[in-house]
Amino acid sequence: MLKIYNTLTNQIETFKPIKPKRVNMYVCGPTVYSDIHIGNARPVIFFDIVKRYLTHLGYQVYYVSNITDVDDKIIDRAQALGMTEQALTKLYTDRFLDMQQTVGSFLPDFMPKATDYVTSMIEYIDELINKGYAYETKEGIYFRVLKVKDYGILSNQDIHQLNEGVRVDLDPDKENPRDFSLWKKTSDGLRFSSPWGDGRPGWHTECAVMNHDIFESEIDIHGGGSDLRFPHHENEIAQAQAHDHHHLAKYWMHVGRLDVDQVKMSKSLGNITLVKDMVKKYHPLAFRLFMIAHHYRQSINYSIEVMDEYAGIYDKIIRNLKKAFLSLSLEGFATAQPDQEIMDRFRAMMNDDFNTQNVITLIYDLIKQLNKTSGNEDKLVLYTTIEVILNILGIMPKFELQDEIIMTYKDWQSAREQKNFRLADELRVKLTEQGWL
Ligand SMILES: [Zn+2]
Repeated sequence: MLKIYNTLTNQIETFKPIKPKRVNMYVCGPTVYSDIHIGNARPVIFFDIVKRYLTHLGYQVYYVSNITDVDDKIIDRAQALGMTEQALTKLYTDRFLDMQQTVGSFLPDFMPKATDYVTSMIEYIDELINKGYAYETKEGIYFRVLKVKDYGILSNQDIHQLNEGVRVDLDPDKENPRDFSLWKKTSDGLRFSSPWGDGRPGWHTECAVMNHDIFESEIDIHGGGSDLRFPHHENEIAQAQAHDHHHLAKYWMHVGRLDVDQVKMSKSLGNITLVKDMVKKYHPLAFRLFMIAHHYRQSINYSIEVMDEYAGIYDKIIRNLKKAFLSLSLEGFATAQPDQEIMDRFRAMMNDDFNTQNVITLIYDLIKQLNKTSGNEDKLVLYTTIEVILNILGIMPKFELQDEIIMTYKDWQSAREQKNFRLADELRVKLTEQGWL
């Protein structure tokens, strides 16, 4: 049985979807005004594996991840670059789609854009006002956090303590400093007309409303990076509580941080590593391996040294698999069922709150075993088992065997048999260079 750490209850819980065999999952996507950094890629990789694994277990998964294409940061950047907001968000949405696939993830089933849901957002905010959960000031519409009884449930905070130390707000008409913006009135940048004048929706409202519109009821899993837990996810929950009397999702999952050289990535420190730059130097799947060799809730420390190490490990995995693939191909590659005992071990690890860290250790062992196995049938079963697992993790390389390689390999074998060591050496070097030995 699959067990998941639920951030909402701070407990490991047995996963029971709302509807049998069906999983609705929503993961907060990026605000598209710049290229994503390696920390942003971590949830992109992890939730892709969640979907693949749930699918492997026989669930029908509907995975939605949004694109935030209206935001103050977008407007500022578009103005700085002399572009329209639409041109800017189109550019970075396309690049984000590319990067998701580069790091080995499938695209989610649906990627809604916030600007396509503004009419629904206005209706939703209007309903919150009518229910007494929201109020208008000169600056915009705010959510009344004190009206939600368990506000702070996700981030384990007491609202009354939260207010101390809150920074002085720009809008003096707010009832409570923690009240958050549902609608910002503005005459600047990308804006929409509403009963309260021109403006744009607040970020927390965008995700709450897209969830409500797309799924219409409580979903199974809501995910994102741990930095979104407060205030973003707390405020999504507050709105769902007020509007629909549920916590938006039954299970909340948060992926740990990724620091660079022990320091949190930030623009001001200038230590942001972009995915597009990292993949110029490393195999993107080596980066994916690095991410999943750690438990998803752990924070990861990225450094050139550790990344070099994983690049080496991934290269070794590829070489060993390639070698096995070649020898199996020469025997006339048949199909086989994966080893059920190993698959059970794999599932036991994944069922333990997606313990990919242990799965990677299992993979290292299986690769060693693969090298030692000589019988072709056993080798095929082992190879197939590794392939099935690596496909669920999204790190299985694709091999293509050209006739020329087969010929070189056969020539190498006969040169060895005939003790023509000079030729055998030459051919060995050629095959090694191409990673086949
Ligand atoms: Zn969100």
